[in-house]
Amino acid sequence: MQAWLLEASPGEYRMGDVELPAPGPREVRVDVVSSALNHLDLWMRQGLPKPPVFPMVPGCDAAGVVGEIGEEVTRWRPGDEVVVNPSFACGHCDRCLSDRSVQCAQWGIMGEHFWGAHARSVLVGEVNLVAKPPSLDWEQAGAYGLCGLTAYRMLQRARLRAGETLLVVGAGGGVGCAAVTIGAHIGARVVATSRDAAKRERALALGAEEAFDSGGKLPVKADVVVDSTGAATWQMAVAALGPGGRYVTCGGTAGGRVELSLARLFFGQLELIGSTMGTFREFDELTRLVGQGLPVVVDSVFPFEAYPQALDRLEAGAQFGKIVLRGAGR
Ligand SMILES: [Zn+2]
Repeated sequence: MQAWLLEASPGEYRMGDVELPAPGPREVRVDVVSSALNHLDLWMRQGLPKPPVFPMVPGCDAAGVVGEIGEEVTRWRPGDEVVVNPSFACGHCDRCLSDRSVQCAQWGIMGEHFWGAHARSVLVGEVNLVAKPPSLDWEQAGAYGLCGLTAYRMLQRARLRAGETLLVVGAGGGVGCAAVTIGAHIGARVVATSRDAAKRERALALGAEEAFDSGGKLPVKADVVVDSTGAATWQMAVAALGPGGRYVTCGGTAGGRVELSLARLFFGQLELIGSTMGTFREFDELTRLVGQGLPVVVDSVFPFEAYPQALDRLEAGAQFGKIVLRGAGR
């Protein structure tokens, strides 16, 4: 099949042909209609992380149509329109069956630990698919998965409640956008930061009540801070936590090492929370929300062949929301 491939890391993606195996007993082949870019696409070509196999197919988000199915598949039939939950897990171990699928021994991310979706087709366990909400177009359906799920679980882990103040650091990225929309949906007072004035305007349009430049001290005492940028914004983010505030992180796109004053942590009764991806239940809940109208912000749509140009846009940080490829599978 035609796919974008990485044959060494550090290295560059190139379009080529690889053989996709037939689906295993509980697997489904999804023919990709749309796939979305994530920072992982950039990290992987820098060897951070090194892909588990070469050639590696990137792409952590996808929506498409079910093609061939494995012999034990019961949930799907060829022709079904589906969205991939990129937080892969086995679906039948104790952890998967008790809402802890992110701790499944077989847990991994499509496009990082398994071949991804910037390809004609992708193999997915039947438990890692949901029906495409009919109200979403293909670009939205292929865009909300990884960042939406990450933001949804972060706000669950941080126990964000209606009436609380949520600070979203770096509201222009995929996780930031999703956190603004989900926070507003929960009924929190959402405050956003971005270095870019146009992105601050867009965060306000998505439901943030206030938006500030990322530099400097913020006039905010937040109950919850969502941050995926890390070191570059750490001091500002921690200073913005009010008493009993919860800081939740899913990554450090701008640096992964930080310094912390323990006095600030214990006197402030603060909590630091790590979060990654999400569970089957959380993906189902997120899918229901976007199906009911929670905005999915698509920045731009590129043809499949223009993946390098799409990566350039992501690397430049020029986007607001998700950058989507029109899939090769249809
Ligand atoms: Zn499992």
